[in-house]
Amino acid sequence: MSSYTDDYLDGNAAAGELSNIFSRDITAANVECAHCGTTEHFAEAHLYTQCPGFVARCPACQQVIFRLVHARDRMLLDMSGMTYLSVDNLDHGRRLESSEPT
Ligand SMILES: [Zn+2]
Repeated sequence: MSSYTDDYLDGNAAAGELSNIFSRDITAANVECAHCGTTEHFAEAHLYTQCPGFVARCPACQQVIFRLVHARDRMLLDMSGMTYLSVDNLDHGRRLESSEPT
């Protein structure tokens, strides 16, 4: 009997890795539009700010790729319009250094 339940951590274990992404300037990230497959820097998206937050649309097909909404004491983030978001791994050099024998 297979047991996936024994091999997981709770979501708190991702806090460090997630802070590496969400503390960065995401406008420099590459994003792939889930609708047409175009890959662009987020900074090239068409941004609409006539709302409590903003909506980013793909510059190629104009479909929504990203929404951020301010709602009272919450911020809601919808990234379902993008297949992925890719940022440079600034931590890569440090990991290599820490894995080298001393
Ligand atoms: Zn698109």
